[in-house]
Amino acid sequence: MKKLSLVAQIGIGMVLGVLLGLIAIFWGFGPGVIDWIKPFGTVFVNMLKLIAIPLILVSLIDGISNLTDMAKLSRIGGKTVGLYLTTTILAISLALGIANLINPGSYLSEEKREELRVKFAPDALSKQESAASVEESGPLQLLVDIVPNNIFESMTSNSNMLQVIFFAILFGVAMIMTPVKEMTPVKSFFNGVNAVILRMVDIIMKYSPVGVFALLAGLIVDIAGNDPSSAFGLFKALGVYAISVLFGLAFMVFGFYPVVLSSFTKIKYKDFFKGMFPAQLLAFSTSSSAATLPVTMERVQKNLGVSEEVASFVLPMGATINMDGTSIHQAISAVFIAVAFGHNLTLGDQLTIVLTATLSSIGAAAVPGAGLIMLVIVLGAIGVDPAGLALIIALDRPLDMCRTVVNVTGDATVATLIASSEGELSEGIDVSKLTAEEKLEVKVSESDIEKFR
Ligand code: ASP
Repeated sequence: MKKLSLVAQIGIGMVLGVLLGLIAIFWGFGPGVIDWIKPFGTVFVNMLKLIAIPLILVSLIDGISNLTDMAKLSRIGGKTVGLYLTTTILAISLALGIANLINPGSYLSEEKREELRVKFAPDALSKQESAASVEESGPLQLLVDIVPNNIFESMTSNSNMLQVIFFAILFGVAMIMTPVKEMTPVKSFFNGVNAVILRMVDIIMKYSPVGVFALLAGLIVDIAGNDPSSAFGLFKALGVYAISVLFGLAFMVFGFYPVVLSSFTKIKYKDFFKGMFPAQLLAFSTSSSAATLPVTMERVQKNLGVSEEVASFVLPMGATINMDGTSIHQAISAVFIAVAFGHNLTLGDQLTIVLTATLSSIGAAAVPGAGLIMLVIVLGAIGVDPAGLALIIALDRPLDMCRTVVNVTGDATVATLIASSEGELSEGIDVSKLTAEEKLEVKVSESDIEKFR
């Protein structure tokens, strides 16, 4: 019998996970799922996180040291930051358009609002406290936070991704500036370690169908709690808001990115989608761009033909600072909560949302729920009571799953644009047409491709 591809296995894992979660709620064995199934999902996410810091550090150093000149590095750096900012601002503008047009806040009845506010008030309070520490630190704190004073300390937490990136860039730049004779052994060391780490990613991915199954089963049970009808009633009341967010997110994936890719590169969106699909599924299941990063990096290089030097520079930075999906969610949520609380948003308020949602999506960590915490800052800036978070907390996880897909797709789009502008992708990659030698060159092995078919 032909072995199922990894994508099919992940898909089956997802469907079975959702089914098990639903059956568990209705037959009352939710706690059993939390005790005996969910831990396998946590193990999977832990394995992905485990590899994140070594992967970023080594692949970034390896990637940068392959750059032959500083001019190229600063050119790619400039393009990366410019494109990330542009796509985020465009995403927020789109979100504001949708929020003003559909106006989901006006669909909420006064009673329901009160009920939700009371129900989730303690939860909203803890989010407010986390955000307060971010707010207190002053406008340039983000800059200060990027420069670590001890790299080993930075490497002890996945939330210090930007600090590790800073160190890796500095290290890589210093390598370029060091004479070739001294640099050669260091370079081959990082080259070899990089290959080993990518192999580790392959091993972890083999476990992904089980991990995804366990994650989704646990998630469904967590959302519903002990009272399925309350969970589903809540979903219904907030349906219009969720649809607005989903519409914005879908527009990015099916409208904006395809148009940008077909306007500025020769890659076909169909091929792009096919190549990125496993990373998108993983983003959906883990709600974390950081956890998905190893797979995003692998797919972009193997399936889209982006070079290691571009991928290892653009993608780790993107996972941390480029969150188009998160910024869409923040803009629509801010308008929704403001309207639900009876605020009339002026043009100035809307511009404030553009600015603060851009900054807070940059500042949001690439982990589940980070966008929700940062939303407090957006709400505070437009003078809306952050307790309004209570209105949307119940829906956050499913929306987080979807916005993370957009975050990851946005990063891959920018990496592809930059690779194309550097002349790396002539026609996109059609592996079947390459000679054996060329296949080796783009580091695509037949067995790897077969796995994902
Ligand atoms: N979960 C998102 C990510 O990792 C961040 C967020 O919006 O909460 O990309």
